[in-house]
Amino acid sequence: MKFSHKYIIIGAGSAGCVLANKLSENPENSVLLIEAGPMDNYSSIKMPLAASSLFKNKKYGWCYETEPEKNLNNRTINWPRGKTLGGSSSINGMLYIRGQAEDYEAWERAGNKGWGYRDLMKYFVALENNQNHEDQYHGNFGSLWVQTYEPILEASKSFLNACKKYGLTQNNDFNGDDQGGFGQYQVNIKDGQRFSAADAFLKPVLDRTNLDLLTNALVEKVITSNKKAIGVKVKIKNEVHVIGSTSEIILCGGSINSPQILMLSGIGPMKHLKDHQISVIQDLPGVGQNLQDHLTVNISYKINKLKTFSELMKPLGMVK
Ligand SMILES: Cc1cc2nc3c(=O)[nH]c(=O)nc-3n(C[C@H](O)[C@H](O)[C@H](O)COP(=O)(O)OP(=O)(O)OC[C@H]3O[C@@H](n4cnc5c(N)ncnc54)[C@H](O)[C@@H]3O)c2cc1C
Repeated sequence: MKFSHKYIIIGAGSAGCVLANKLSENPENSVLLIEAGPMDNYSSIKMPLAASSLFKNKKYGWCYETEPEKNLNNRTINWPRGKTLGGSSSINGMLYIRGQAEDYEAWERAGNKGWGYRDLMKYFVALENNQNHEDQYHGNFGSLWVQTYEPILEASKSFLNACKKYGLTQNNDFNGDDQGGFGQYQVNIKDGQRFSAADAFLKPVLDRTNLDLLTNALVEKVITSNKKAIGVKVKIKNEVHVIGSTSEIILCGGSINSPQILMLSGIGPMKHLKDHQISVIQDLPGVGQNLQDHLTVNISYKINKLKTFSELMKPLGMVK
């Protein structure tokens, strides 16, 4: 096994890009970032309106589907996850909206000191380069470009006016004091192009000599010795390589793949691992359980006269 890096980060998605940046800030550290997908130089990643065309793209996404859902007449649901630099931040909706304060408070109450909303605020503020808001909830000097989205469709403006007429509460900052109401989203779009976690945190530091990036490299498992993670097994162009770490291996494979990698490494619910003939390193029943996701249900209407989103989704509209 070649032990060349202090830290190995698995997955160059939102979390992996931030960690690669922060850990390699210290020249004493050496960091290897391993990404299963390719580089992100694909025009549809850059074009905000093309986002949904990426959801079923096999090159830049994992293209997961759920099991048939009994309560959905046995249909399966498409479950996109990004597989490229930036991970899901390279295929997502680009909406910049924090979790609800109550959720972070619940994390803290569950015993995670330092993860409460007020504790995290300094990090939220530090990472932002907000173009529209300057107050205690926002930062203007961070790496992540944030701007308020200006509706381009007359239909969107009409919708906002209708909300107002209906008496709903207008909110000019969903990341401010109150997250309720109607209003305009803040987005990670800069100069008309997607601004992913890779754009914000990874690309600006890729020239650091203590940071190495491997793309098209699938981590198959974490190698352990006496229950300590010491390396990874990586498949690159059909060849399997073993790479060791002198300090830590950090899983940033996303909410589906991180538990999968743990289980492939023998860490997870014993019975499930045995069912798949995986040697158990550690019986950990919680791995792969209790996933929460937010489903979206889009409601579509035909409208008269005004231009719609569907028209903009045609190839020429996306380029404009
Ligand atoms: C369709 C969609 C729309 C969304 N819209 C929004 C939005 O508008 N606003 C918002 O805030 N959030 C949105 N999200 C959520 C947000 O993008 C994710 O929460 C966030 O990107 C997750 O970050 P992560 O680092 O945990 O995982 P990811 O960003 O998914 O990164 C995981 C990375 O690990 C890599 N990887 C996985 N397994 C392996 C392996 N075995 N070996 C090597 N590499 C591996 C993956 O290829 C990927 O690059 C959306 C997500 C999706 C999928």
